[in-house]
This record gives sequence, C-alpha cells and structure tokens, in this order.
Amino acid sequence: MYEQGVIRPPSEAQSLLLRVTRNCPWNQCLFCPAYKGVKFSRRSVEEVKRDIDSMYEEFGDYPVRTAFLQDADSLLIKTEDLLEILAYLKKKFPRIERITSYARAPTLRRKGVDDLKRLKEAGLTRIHVGLESGSEKVLKMIKKGITERDIVEGGLNVKGAGIELSEYIMPGIGGKGLSEEHATETARLLNQIEPDFIRVRTFAMHPKSPMVKMVEEGTFIPMTDEEIVAEIRLLVSHLKEMHSYFSSGDFGLNLLMQVDGYLDEKKEFMLKELDEYLSLTDEEKKAYSLLRRSSYGVYPLSIVKDESLMKKIRPEIERLERQGKDGFNRYIAHLMTYQLPQPQTDNWN
Ligand code: SF4
Repeated sequence: MYEQGVIRPPSEAQSLLLRVTRNCPWNQCLFCPAYKGVKFSRRSVEEVKRDIDSMYEEFGDYPVRTAFLQDADSLLIKTEDLLEILAYLKKKFPRIERITSYARAPTLRRKGVDDLKRLKEAGLTRIHVGLESGSEKVLKMIKKGITERDIVEGGLNVKGAGIELSEYIMPGIGGKGLSEEHATETARLLNQIEPDFIRVRTFAMHPKSPMVKMVEEGTFIPMTDEEIVAEIRLLVSHLKEMHSYFSSGDFGLNLLMQVDGYLDEKKEFMLKELDEYLSLTDEEKKAYSLLRRSSYGVYPLSIVKDESLMKKIRPEIERLERQGKDGFNRYIAHLMTYQLPQPQTDNWN
C-alpha cells in the first residue's frame, strides 16, 4: 500500500507517482481546484521509503523508467531528505532514467543553484513550474503568491543546475482587461528564462472558484475562444525563436492543439495557424469551437470549410445565440468546465 496524490502532468501518465509531500503549501490561487479543502503536510523520509518498498513489491519486475514526485511543491523539503529519497528510489528502481517534480517558483529561488545541482546529480531531471502569467497585476489578481523575481531567478536556477524546466502558462487568466499585458509580460519573462518547455493551459473557470463572483461584480471579464487565440498570437509573436518547446498538444482545453513545436523551428508555422483561425468567419470560428469543445477530437481548421458539416452545425449555433446575451460563449465556457479537476472536498477554502 502506498499513498498517491490527485494530479500529475500529462507527460507523467506512465510514471511511478511517489508522494513526497501532501497537497499544496500555498493553495490560494483563485483558479485552481486541485487541493482546495485539504491541508498541506510533509511526509517523513521513512514513510516515503516505505512507499518505495511497496511500489517495488508491485512494480519491481517491470522496467520502470520514469517517476514523478508528488504533490504541488515537493522541493520544499530539506535537500538532504530529498537526496536520501532519490538515492533510495534509484536503488530500488535502477532503470529509472527520468525523475520529475512540480515546484513553486519561490521555492526554486530559495533552493539555489548549488542545491539544485546536487539534486540533479542524484537523479532529478525535470521540474514543472506554474508561471501562469508574467504580469504582476495578473499574478496579484489571481493570488498566485509569486513575483517576477521568483519566476526568473527560480527558472534560471533550474536551468543553471542542468535540470530540464517546464513552465506552465495560462492564456485567458488575465481576462479581457489585462489580456495584452498578460501576453507581452509572459513572453518577456519566458524570453529571459528560455525554458525547455512552455506548456499552454488555457484558463477555464471552475464553477466553485471565487472568480465567479469577480465576474458577477464586473472585476473579471472572461474571454471568448477567439479572444484567447488572439492573445496567444500576441504572446507567440513576442517570443524569441529559442529552443523551447511550445506545447499546446498535451492539454485538451487548448482550442488549437496543433500550435505545437520548437519555437526555433516552428514559430512561423504556429503564427500561420493562429492567423488562419483568426481569419475564419465568425460562424466558422463558432463551429470550430463547438466541434472542439463538445468532443476530444483535434481537427484541422479546414474542417469548417465543409459545407455539409456546417449545415448540421449551423442550427445549433443559431439555437445557442437565441439563448440570451452571450448564450453561445456561456455554453462553450460550460462545456470547458467538464475537463477541470474537481476539488477534493466541497469546501473550496
Ligand atoms: S496552482 Fe499550484 S500553487 Fe496554486 S493553489 Fe494550485 S497547486 Fe497550489
């Protein structure tokens, strides 16, 4: 028997999930349902080692190649403890080639490059960080609890230690009011860090999020699919042609999952794809949103040029548009919530 946390990055679907800490030490981000209602705690090294033993009993005969350290900020524990855990994990599973973890930017800044180098030598190969936005205004609004300095210094520490860095960004999280600043400031920080991966996580509002109240009060104006694509276009146009993998294809809430690839190889292709979407008619854009949001399919943009298909979709668009102000966009936003993780309790706070 061993413990397991509720989330992991999609790229860790085949990995051993080793819970080093429980839940999130910050847990205040307004958009995030993952650990709401449950408390953060550290696990002792002995406890984690016992889990490794249990995993060894279950998976020892398999050629386990990857492991992910859960939960939200496991680098928070003492470096010596983490070194001991990594050494034990590698002893039990000697064929492991990749060990990864989530971490918060302030933790990485405080950890410093020397400790991160020791962790790299012990087998830690990749760190996933939620940057969300480079705009201080957006970070403050969503209660992310991090600053530009945390993001840049934390990111550069990881790179300086030779560990792969995955930065997660969230188009749409600034709302209409901060969209432009969100895009350009996020690009500015990413250009300084040059992470190995920029992972796109389009914002969708959880129905229990305090952001619902912000919408009612008019302090947050949600963006449509079209507006978010325009924001991503602005962001990509400001990103350098660096060797960072811009990844939209690993997350179903990204409308254009095909906007995906290394910036130094595919930036032009990505901009072309974004422009092609933006040049569709209003009806074609709506049809594309409906197709993507009501199924898990990834479609070429040319699909909406198929008149026989449009004949079938058109009445549904018209029906949604008759349902009061912004009926179509409200329905799309509702469909997007089905892909969000659920809070572990009914209590968001
Ligand atoms: S986004 Fe990350 S840091 Fe923020 S509450 Fe969720 S798990 Fe914690």
